[in-house]
Amino acid sequence: MITFDKVDKFYGDFHVLKEINLTINQGEVVVVIGPSGSGKSTMLRCINRLESITSGSLTVNNVEVNDKKTDINKLRRNIGMVFQHFYLYPHKTVLQNIMLAPIKVLGISEKEAKETAEFYLKKVGIPDKANSYPSQLSGGQQQRVAIARGLAMKPDIMLFDEPTSALDPEMIGEVLDVMKALAKEGMTMVVVTHEMNFAKEVADRIVFMDQGEIVEEAIPAEFYENPREERARIFLSRIL
Ligand code: ADP
Ligand code: MG
Repeated sequence: MITFDKVDKFYGDFHVLKEINLTINQGEVVVVIGPSGSGKSTMLRCINRLESITSGSLTVNNVEVNDKKTDINKLRRNIGMVFQHFYLYPHKTVLQNIMLAPIKVLGISEKEAKETAEFYLKKVGIPDKANSYPSQLSGGQQQRVAIARGLAMKPDIMLFDEPTSALDPEMIGEVLDVMKALAKEGMTMVVVTHEMNFAKEVADRIVFMDQGEIVEEAIPAEFYENPREERARIFLSRIL
């Protein structure tokens, strides 16, 4: 569903992604970990072309992401993204936040958008917050709204960039639970997170990055119990 084939990316002279090769199949959950500055966010952002690649091939559903002929809006409609900070519209209610893109981008009716929004709000466990404003919600609830907003576009792929790193510890679990449920329903997910229990429970694979390279790719049990690469071992000893 997503393939990186010898992908390189530079920011000016800075080589941020180095010959990335990675294939993510439909329904797979891939967790990306690695030190700060290793290129995790950049790699994720290339998938929906928030960043463009310098060379190599990157395809989503067999469509070359960086091809001039690619309909970028169509590509992005199919890929939901959840960030560390939630970026909800403060002056819109929770329901309005979720309804906005389906109405504007998919052109569905207000009525249908409302039903869809209510459905996903229920799914993330806060149907009672429909008419609240983001500031009236906890961080964990706001992040769940952000996930519902992504799901309301009915994407094939969901990207998560450190979705729990800005949350107070007691709110991390409720967001991870929503993500776990999504994973178990078969959503294709790429998740940058250092939450090991989440990774162990739902990830099909761990991708460890360092200095712009994929250093190691392994199933979670192998990676956490017995990483092959020295750099992965050092990294794990720091975060665990
Ligand atoms: P990670 O998510 O693993 O922390 P990033 O992908 O955010 O890493 O960043 C990788 C490297 O690229 C960092 O050294 C960062 O400073 C640099 N970088 C990120 N975005 C830009 C940019 N827009 N211009 C120049 N350098 C950038
Ligand atoms: Mg990052």
